[in-house]
Amino acid sequence: MAKRGISILKGIEAQTVIELLNKAYCDEWLAYYQYFIESKVAKGLMKDAVIAELTLHAADELRHATMLTGRIIQLGGTPILHPSEWLTHSNCGYDAPTNPDVRAILDQAIKGEQCAITTYSSLLDIVREKDIVTYDLISQILADEVEHEEDLQSLFDDIEEFVSQFKQ
Ligand code: FE
Ligand code: FE
Ligand code: MG
Repeated sequence: MAKRGISILKGIEAQTVIELLNKAYCDEWLAYYQYFIESKVAKGLMKDAVIAELTLHAADELRHATMLTGRIIQLGGTPILHPSEWLTHSNCGYDAPTNPDVRAILDQAIKGEQCAITTYSSLLDIVREKDIVTYDLISQILADEVEHEEDLQSLFDDIEEFVSQFKQ
């Protein structure tokens, strides 16, 4: 364990940060799987554009999981070792895409991103000026989640607009 790197934490225990990062780590795996399976089952209008976006987001969530494990290990912690713990430790849970319609899928995915934004924003409040390395890492992830919400919302709005042209 790298002692000097841990000694720069100010007014927060490494264990506290590790636990918070592990919860976010579970969220990222669940988000990854949700995007992965959504991209396989999605049906309906503009399906190709939606699937392309879901596939990109899946890769981003997996990259976030990688970033989080790196920091957990730096802090002397152990990343969650068993997938059975993902749901019990996660902040945002998992929303199975039981309705394959693209709009239902986008709606679920938007809610997931909104939960991620809220979660990471609170995490930043906790580590601000206490753990600068974690703060920087979480800021990068948060910027991706904000972009994800916007990408999904603009796709959703395009589909709604297209549909509304036939309802006049
Ligand atoms: Fe993420
Ligand atoms: Fe995301
Ligand atoms: Mg995107």
